[in-house]
Amino acid sequence: MTTINDNYLKLKAGYLFPEIARRVNVFAEANPNASIIKLGIGDVTEPLPQACLDAMTQAVKDMGDRATFKGYGPEQGYLWLREKIAKYDFQARGCEVDASEIFVSDGAKCDNGNILDIFGKNNVIAVTDPVYPVYVDTNVMAGHTGECNEKGEYEGLVYLPVTAENNFIAEIPSQKVDLIYLCYPNNPTGAVATKEYLKQWVDYAKAHGSIIFFDAAYEAFITDSTLPHSIYEIEGARDCAIEFRSFSKNAGFTGTRCAYTVLPKTLTAKANDGSDVELWKLWNRRQCTKFNGVSYIVQRGAEAVYSEEGQAQIQELVSFYLGNAKIICEELTKAGLSVYGGINSPYVWVKTPNNLSSWDFFDLLLEKANVVGTPGSGFGAAGEGYFRISAFNSRANVEEAMKRIIEKM
Ligand SMILES: *Cc1c(COP(=O)(O)O)cnc(C)c1O
Repeated sequence: MTTINDNYLKLKAGYLFPEIARRVNVFAEANPNASIIKLGIGDVTEPLPQACLDAMTQAVKDMGDRATFKGYGPEQGYLWLREKIAKYDFQARGCEVDASEIFVSDGAKCDNGNILDIFGKNNVIAVTDPVYPVYVDTNVMAGHTGECNEKGEYEGLVYLPVTAENNFIAEIPSQKVDLIYLCYPNNPTGAVATKEYLKQWVDYAKAHGSIIFFDAAYEAFITDSTLPHSIYEIEGARDCAIEFRSFSKNAGFTGTRCAYTVLPKTLTAKANDGSDVELWKLWNRRQCTKFNGVSYIVQRGAEAVYSEEGQAQIQELVSFYLGNAKIICEELTKAGLSVYGGINSPYVWVKTPNNLSSWDFFDLLLEKANVVGTPGSGFGAAGEGYFRISAFNSRANVEEAMKRIIEKM
């Protein structure tokens, strides 16, 4: 008899976004004239930068000409893209990252999940709470956890709560953990990490032989020049950290798909026999076997992000979304709410008023203002009592949503 991967049965049934959609549908059917504004999902709304479009249009033409046609590319990505990434995203910030350590992929979400392929089954894993659900669910699927309790916590994971009480900064654990997921600027809280804070994690990881998974998908939203964009700005990080980056949020590639992972050649972990093994070699082997690279056309589009026009255009996009976030923060503060994040991040993390639960506040916002956000409890037990508002929308929608919240709530 064929059997399944039973770990999948431990997953909560993709509860959050389907439940949001269900409640919105029920409301929309009962109120057919309501114009609902969605500030819930973390997807961009503005079109691609012109520089990326032009580069991809040219790349399509290349594919139609025998002389410039491309078949399979390198599994790790074209060197011309990897070199630009290494130069502009890392070397320009004083980080020692070589093009050979960049692995181009079709998404940071996939990389975040796939990276577990090269790690053992018995690692102790730490995540913040609330957290980007992909980190947790991919560990559940890989059999790294026990069952889920009624609060949504999986047995075997180490949860590091982040709330207003600790300024949304996870405490460094007192116990030993082997793998640590960090995401800064953070989804969902919009919190940022200083160099001093990341240095504490790097020191912890080096002292315990741990590996940090650093998700920097939102680094482009950092406006404070003292904040690090990469974990490799921290001394010692090349010995303990893997970084995930994406073109999804800076250049609007959520539907175009391009990202990359940085795996320093200096990074090692233990084999069963106690020997140290280079993780770069394992990840390279994994990618060569299970991945055939990102489309040439898309990599040309990503390369254009590093052109002068591309840099100016992504700056404009990011500033636009940050402008939305600023309006959201200001207006919600006027409405008497406590807001966090939204300064170096497209996400505003709101404390629900009057101790409402995250879902009760969701319903209230939907019914009174016809605005949709994301209940914080969907990102983890410690997200209860919070609510995420996304700045990914048109200026008109953001302004209208805020006007309604001020007037109707
Ligand atoms: C959006 C997002 C990503 C990017 O994922 P892609 O697969 O590259 O689109 C990665 N991490 C977090 C936390 C995100 O919110």
